[in-house]
Amino acid sequence: MSARLAIYPGSFDPITNGHFDIIRRGVRCFDHVRVAVAYNRQKPSGLFTPAERVEMLEESTAEFGDKVSIDSFHGLLVDYARLTGATTIIRGLRAVADFDYEFQLALMNRHLNGDVETVFLMADATHLYTSATLVKEVAALGGDISQQVPSAVQKRLQEKFRKHE
Ligand code: ADP
Repeated sequence: MSARLAIYPGSFDPITNGHFDIIRRGVRCFDHVRVAVAYNRQKPSGLFTPAERVEMLEESTAEFGDKVSIDSFHGLLVDYARLTGATTIIRGLRAVADFDYEFQLALMNRHLNGDVETVFLMADATHLYTSATLVKEVAALGGDISQQVPSAVQKRLQEKFRKHE
């Protein structure tokens, strides 16, 4: 039987404990989880560069060893899946807010490539309202985000906003 490889794509700007929880659950279900930072070459956006996001993901997921790898890609996710030989896309679901968008995305990806299946994993209830956007807003204003992000990320956020002051 061939190894079951899944891709977990997203912006990860930066990785939060919600993302981490999804990665941990993905590791239980698949032989290998490839976390992939999606970015747009033409329209760079976000607080951290794709390279910084990859670094933070690497630091935060080191404990999983070779069960998890980190990468980045631009262009269509289904093309990236084909390139890497992955047949599953992992997405995380929070409270109702994620559902509509995630449903649209999964159906569009299925339309573009019917061989790739999207599976949804639920993070622990403590991460239900954790979002990278909110974490950045709170960190920018000097609030405590230690419960929402891995410690390596907390440090980077503090450094980033100290520079911007
Ligand atoms: P996007 O780039 O689509 O906004 P993100 O990079 O923020 O997505 O997240 C990637 C995936 O992780 C998405 O499926 C998103 O719903 C999921 N996710 C983000 N935060 C959480 C969380 N706190 N709990 C569960 N899933 C989450």
